[in-house]
Amino acid sequence: MLVNLKELCAVAEQRNIAVGGFNAVDVHSLKAVIRAAEELDAPIAIMFAQLHEKFTHIEDVAALMLRYAKDASVPVCVQLDHGEDLDYVKKALDLGFTAVMFDGSALPYEENAAQTAKVVEMARAYGSSVEGELGSLGKREYGDGASVGDDTKTYTDPQLARQFIADTGIDALACSFGTTHGFYVEKPKLNFEIVRQIRKLSGDVPIVMHGGSGVSEEDLRRSIDAGVRKINYFTYMDKAGAAAIRSRLENWGEGQPLLTKLMVSAEDAMEENVKGAIRVFLNR
Ligand SMILES: [Zn+2]
Repeated sequence: MLVNLKELCAVAEQRNIAVGGFNAVDVHSLKAVIRAAEELDAPIAIMFAQLHEKFTHIEDVAALMLRYAKDASVPVCVQLDHGEDLDYVKKALDLGFTAVMFDGSALPYEENAAQTAKVVEMARAYGSSVEGELGSLGKREYGDGASVGDDTKTYTDPQLARQFIADTGIDALACSFGTTHGFYVEKPKLNFEIVRQIRKLSGDVPIVMHGGSGVSEEDLRRSIDAGVRKINYFTYMDKAGAAAIRSRLENWGEGQPLLTKLMVSAEDAMEENVKGAIRVFLNR
């Protein structure tokens, strides 16, 4: 069942859970995530990030993502993750994405707010939702894991977040409270008070955690208690797929390794990894 992000977060709010936001960069990750969600009866977002263009074009996966979402037995939002310019955001909306995330976090406040407000105006015409970002999670290179000594990381200021939400009309806010994209090279220290304050000042706006994979189960549960309603999770699922391929190759035995068979192993491993994450997000 295809839903937008606003509807998805409403379900999370009602059930006091977080929905998982998983990147579907190709048919294998897409199938793994949808299977995991259906098996656990969990609402989810499937996402394609602009920086994944280096692997697949959005046009190549959009129709597939939408078909899987519509056919799913659970609510599924099809979201653009980290849209970096308005033309690309419009492309995602034209393709039928039911949510877009605009990442203007590297811009000065005024510029971020002005561009995000434009994205909100565009998305409304399509019935789609918008996730904005304020504060910086630091480096966002693909698969990069530098949380040590990363001085580009800026925690979100709750008062400024209140202003940002009022200025833009976004449906959900990605905020920086200690998580990082990519691999964690040290245990992140999360500041749950930032989440609680933003929720209190902004009428329980749904908060989105980026860099959710690699965060401890205890910290994930505490984040949900504080009001995180969507958790973006990808790197460790991606890593699980790669580990399965390595293990299958090392234990192949008779005959030549075949990519098709390796990808089945990767899919199964990603599904198991995602199921583990979803169980925590559902507070089970
Ligand atoms: Zn992110």
